[in-house]
Amino acid sequence: MKGKCIILKNCRKKRVRRYDDAGNYIGNQTYLRNLYEKTHGPIDEPEMVVVQGCGNEDCHNPDHLILKSLSDHFRDIVVALDPPVGEKNPNAKLTDEIVLRLRALKKKGRLQRGDISRYARQYGVHKHTMQKAVNGQYWNHIQI
Ligand SMILES: [Zn+2]
Repeated sequence: MKGKCIILKNCRKKRVRRYDDAGNYIGNQTYLRNLYEKTHGPIDEPEMVVVQGCGNEDCHNPDHLILKSLSDHFRDIVVALDPPVGEKNPNAKLTDEIVLRLRALKKKGRLQRGDISRYARQYGVHKHTMQKAVNGQYWNHIQI
């Protein structure tokens, strides 16, 4: 994103009244869509929505405004409300199986000093991440 965010609280919710050349009221428009059209030109596709590409909902820097299809926008909202956990997270390096196996070893007292660090290195995660996964602070959606 070019430049810093320019904050205007609740700018997503603001609307502006629009008038034609003769001064007749022709309905309102969201503030961000109005700002986008003023700075980037008219939006031809009615199915496109204007969102902040920087992810800051209070930002109204015109350079941070991007067009997104309605379906992409709704998908992003759903992901934000219900982020993928565990294996469903595309960035996950651990799997349910690894976590369950290590928890089982711990339960049986067969997880030796240094094992956590070794497994962390093996699976490419930080030892604290592995420790929390084994202790159930992370990956708490799965239980033995
Ligand atoms: Zn921004």
